[in-house]
Amino acid sequence: MIAVPDAVAEAALGVDGPTYLYDLPGLDDHVRAIRTALGPHVEFFHAVKANPDLGVLRTIASHVDGLEVASAGELAHVRKLGTDLLIAFGGPGKTDAELKSTVDLFHVESRYELARLTGATALLRVNLPVPEGPAVLRMGGLPSPFGMDPEDARKAAVEAPPGVRVIGVHAHLVSGVDAEQAAAVAGEVVRWSVDAGLPREVVNVGGGMAVDYLRPDERFDWARYGRLLRGLAPPGTVLRIEPGRAVSAYHGWYATRVLDVKRSAGSWFAICAGGTHHLRTPAAKGHSQPLAVLPRGSSGPSVDDAPVTFVGQLCTPKDVLARDVVVPRVRVGDVVAFGMAGAYAYNISHTEFLMHPKPAVVHLI
Ligand SMILES: *Cc1c(COP(=O)(O)O)cnc(C)c1O
Repeated sequence: MIAVPDAVAEAALGVDGPTYLYDLPGLDDHVRAIRTALGPHVEFFHAVKANPDLGVLRTIASHVDGLEVASAGELAHVRKLGTDLLIAFGGPGKTDAELKSTVDLFHVESRYELARLTGATALLRVNLPVPEGPAVLRMGGLPSPFGMDPEDARKAAVEAPPGVRVIGVHAHLVSGVDAEQAAAVAGEVVRWSVDAGLPREVVNVGGGMAVDYLRPDERFDWARYGRLLRGLAPPGTVLRIEPGRAVSAYHGWYATRVLDVKRSAGSWFAICAGGTHHLRTPAAKGHSQPLAVLPRGSSGPSVDDAPVTFVGQLCTPKDVLARDVVVPRVRVGDVVAFGMAGAYAYNISHTEFLMHPKPAVVHLI
């Protein structure tokens, strides 16, 4: 079972129905530690798509240099923060209206997009081949709707419309990488930018820092990454990163109650209020969401010391939050706290399916 901080456990034990708990003091410490580990030589942007919760974003915003949005909706949303952070607008298929947004920077995904910009500053997003490695989700160099092939990026650099300033390169090429892998990819991107002779005031090497849902205690080594990045950028180049998941994942919790405990064809099931329509992450990634059972039930069926599959209330066998987790005991009325639910969790979930109520959201402050 995952370790639950005292403040989270206390709040979780008080929930009535499915509830997202955001541990903002914990998040604040975590993001401050990332900022410190990166040192003054790396600019730290945050990818807003990981979690649009305003309490979460406000906490992160107090430590980062900028925010990356990927739609007009996200842009309008982050304006509510009222910060003067730099805002970069990325993402494929930007509409004409989106390309007219007032932002500090566009991450340009194609030559056609560049041609439609006016009076803007831009980084060219490039789809570079990355070295083979155990990266969980390698995107760079494969056919992709994201960014431009290296040759197209070179062409784009010399065909920016008048009034459009191309100041560098953007690349988000991997997902699920450790510090060594992430730094190696950053090195490739910088090297390519120099060799290709592209503008390189800013080189953004993206996000994708690993979050290991099976080993919640094994965190991306930001201190090591910071050390490996030092000295990577040549004079005149600012190195920038843009993580999402590894920033906010650890400080969101989905807490819910057990409604039923039953045995089916030899296997135990705990049926929880809510389900993957609130927390789609385990279904989307095919993992068991780390959890802890907080005893609170006093009647109804229970099971001791057995593998238990935790499911939700949806009428589909895909509604599995965690499979075959051995717990000392689970009983109707207990609270289950699912951890690592602070990124790509509530916001990627199909909340309308079956028309159950939406989860509550509580910020621990
Ligand atoms: C999603 C995304 C990120 C963040 O990725 P994480 O895996 O959450 O760190 C950064 N940059 C771009 C362009 C993205 O699409």
